[in-house]
Order: sequence, then C-alpha cells, then structure tokens
Amino acid sequence: MIIKKNIHDFREYIEKARGQFKKIGFVPTMGSLHEGHLSLVKKAVWENDLVVVSIFVNPTQFGPEEDFDRYPRDIKGDIEQLEELDTDIVFCPDSSEMYSADYNTYVQVNGIAEKLCGRSRSGHFQGVATVLTKFFNIIHPDKVYFGNKDYQQLLVVKKLVEDLNFSIEIIGLPIVREADGLAFSSRNKYLSKEGRNQAVVLYHTLMKIKKNVCEKKFYNLFKLKEMVVEMITSKPLAEIDYVEFVDPDTLDEVPVFNGNLLVALAVYIEETRLIDNIIIRDYKPI
Ligand code: AMP
Repeated sequence: MIIKKNIHDFREYIEKARGQFKKIGFVPTMGSLHEGHLSLVKKAVWENDLVVVSIFVNPTQFGPEEDFDRYPRDIKGDIEQLEELDTDIVFCPDSSEMYSADYNTYVQVNGIAEKLCGRSRSGHFQGVATVLTKFFNIIHPDKVYFGNKDYQQLLVVKKLVEDLNFSIEIIGLPIVREADGLAFSSRNKYLSKEGRNQAVVLYHTLMKIKKNVCEKKFYNLFKLKEMVVEMITSKPLAEIDYVEFVDPDTLDEVPVFNGNLLVALAVYIEETRLIDNIIIRDYKPI
C-alpha cells in the first residue's frame, strides 16, 4: 500500500498507474475508520482495479463552533485497517497542502444543500463540495463511494457531479450499524456510557416508524412525526435538531404519504450531533 501526503507526488504516482489500471475507485473519508467506512472500501476494492482512500479532516466543512479540533484522528490505526483490505493508495494531505494561505475558491451546490443539515450547519456542504471537487480533480476516479448514512451529502455530490460534468459514477451504499442498531460514526467515540445507551433511540425510532407504515399500514405523517418526537424526547440526554419526513429525491417535505419517504433525524446526544435516516417504500392502498 502506498501512502501519499503530497499532491504532486500523488499525481505523479497515479498518472503512471492509470496506464496499467483500468478503473480507479475512490473512497473519501475523514479517518478514524469504522465498519461503515470499511464497507465502502471493500466494495471499491471489489469493483475497481485501483483504490484510493483519502483521510482528510476537512476544515472547510466545519463551522466555527463545531468539533474540528477535537474530531477523532487515528492515522496509524486507519492505515493498518486499510492495508488489510488491500487498499492501493492512502492519500492523507495536511490542511496546508489542500488549502494554501491565500486559498479563495469555493463550490456551492444550491437547492438540495440548503435543506435538512444545510439549515443547521451553515457552510457545511460548501466545504464538502469544495474538497470533493479538489479530490476529483487530483484523483480522476471512475467511481466514488459514499454511505447512505450521510444521505443528503450523497444527493449533494450527485448534483455536483451532474452540474460540473465530472465523468464519475457516484455510488451510495447501505448504512452499517453496531449490534444494537446505532449507526457507526466516528463521533460515537464522544459519547459517555449513558449517552451511548440512549443514542440507540435514533434507530429504534426509525424502526418504529417503518413498522407503523409497512406492517400496520398507518400513514398519518403528522401523527408519525409526533411519535418520533415523543420517543426521542423521552431520553433525557437527547435534544432534537430536526425530524424531517421528506421526498428521498428532492428532500422536500412530504405532507401526505405517497409510497416513498425519507425519514431523516439529527439529534444531539449530550453535546454530540448524530444523524440517521431510513427510506420507507410502501404501496398505499387507494
Ligand atoms: P466521514 O469519515 O464521516 O466523512 O465518512 C466517510 C464516508 O463514510 C461517507 O460517505 C459516509 O457516509 C460513510 N459512512 C459513515 N458512517 C457510515 C455508516 N455507519 N455506514 C455506511 N457508511 C458510512
């Protein structure tokens, strides 16, 4: 496995490799890798001739009050895990390598990026779109892999690729969960023991809504939303950022169940903001 920190060196290596390898897969991450990340890497290794994984805690996607400084970093552990999965190249530039002191260009995806997390994390998706545009230009991947856990991010990236004519296939993969159902997240490390216990309420809530819709055929979205709020607020360490029932393609609010629904949650557990979601598809009898 090759490890590159410098854009120039990385480019030199990948340009040579491009001649020999047909398909380049890319998995962007912020490191502190867990099973969710590894599922993307496994799929990329399976589907491509050469796989690049980036490890970069991107400062431009964190707000001034957010956790950039204390975001978990474990480059040694990450490299060991990636080596085991037969990753070809780890690209782990420093901040100054990606953003020069006079850096001044940003990529803004309007519309889809302004909903859900865009409302509570101002500038977040601009940072995401900017760093991914830079990575796409440096790496020239054929396929790029994302988790459905950050479902809105996936839609933002698809729009970015469509609008800026990148010749890249964007692949979204299922959410990977811990044994009790909590979605793997690097931020789970922030939780206290009690916080960790209560955090599983996100998953239980999503499952309850799915059960109501798919098994009990209960389609009253107003009542279902009330159920979500009640379940989450029953946990003393939980505070809701948003509960949204939206169309999975547009992220517009769905007033009446039409067979295709994204339930998206953002909840603070103690100080830690966790997100989770589920897409519920069901045929509503007329
Ligand atoms: P991050 O390091 O948090 O920027 O995440 C890097 C990639 O891993 C993103 O595409 C995430 O959606 C994906 N990811 C994070 N957690 C999970 C999970 N629990 N299941 C599947 N993918 C995930």
